Amino acid sequence: MMPSVSHRKRVLSGMRSTGKLHLGNFVGALDNWVRMQDQCDCFFFIADWHALTTDYADTSQVKQNSVEVLLDWLAAGLDPERCTMFVQSHVPQHAELHLLFSMITPLGWLERVPTYKEQQENITGKDLSTYGFLGYPLLMSADILMYKGDLVPVGEDQVPHVELTREIARRFNMFYNFHGQPVFPEPQVLLTPEPKLPGTDGRKMSKSYGNTIMLTDPEPVVRQKLKTMVTDPARVRRTDPGNPDVCPVGDLHKIFSDRETNAKVDVGCRSAGIGCIECKSWAADSLVQILNPMQQRRKKYEDNPRLAWDILEQGSERARKVASSTMNEVREAMKMSLEYEGPSRAQGQG
Ligand code: SF4
Repeated sequence: MMPSVSHRKRVLSGMRSTGKLHLGNFVGALDNWVRMQDQCDCFFFIADWHALTTDYADTSQVKQNSVEVLLDWLAAGLDPERCTMFVQSHVPQHAELHLLFSMITPLGWLERVPTYKEQQENITGKDLSTYGFLGYPLLMSADILMYKGDLVPVGEDQVPHVELTREIARRFNMFYNFHGQPVFPEPQVLLTPEPKLPGTDGRKMSKSYGNTIMLTDPEPVVRQKLKTMVTDPARVRRTDPGNPDVCPVGDLHKIFSDRETNAKVDVGCRSAGIGCIECKSWAADSLVQILNPMQQRRKKYEDNPRLAWDILEQGSERARKVASSTMNEVREAMKMSLEYEGPSRAQGQG
């Protein structure tokens, strides 16, 4: 049983079913979620329908990818006793609310969402001129508003999506009300600090660049990836001084290493007192220290995948209860409740 959470702010956030997660997913979102689960009433969902907006042509991996995401969530420390984890498509009310929102949403609102044009230009090899792709920020609005979330933790690039969600809530409340009250609160953005986390080639860590360190990478793989990681280009020879502030390995230290190690790196790099190989092995030590306990937690569920699936089922059931209550209000506000209404009442309401 989850403890009573009525006094806590409700938080809603999700991740696409992308499969196993990397350090960038952890630092940008997941470690923040783990902290939030004790402070807020958190609903975290695996967005498998969102995955379809770009990967509709091959759905063979979507379900397994959802499970992999869940395993990494559990590995990172999300706890089904302290938060609700579910799969988007297991709560079909999301689709229903999305459809109803689509009726009231001007096309221009969706066309001007910055990621729409950006992604259409950047993602090559896929036809994204689909209705689903245009409408995915609206599906996101339905995801959020369904739970009447107070806070939506997002990075800078997702802020326009929450802004759209607020506009949708206002527009819906303008047309319809539930016994004189607005149905949807306007959620607030909770800006998640996104520390600079470069991949092994120095660019932003991303699966599409092939430069990731995965949460599931075993120690030898982590060490090998660190060995090939780019460094400050000024350090051509061992005797050349460098600058950890412009080195991707230096960025890793800042996030994952303790103060003492960072001090050693700073002095040693700038004075050429240490070599990059040594510095990288310290960074690998710090990473392994964080990843090892995660991998041990993950193993429990890898050995017994049914346990993980049960967590998803229980979470989805909890989510469906909230969603069903919201949809009752939505239907009633729109004068489309499932209840029988006599002819006179129906006529009176026009
Ligand atoms: S010593 Fe460390 S911080 Fe400095 S350039 Fe080499 S890897 Fe980067």
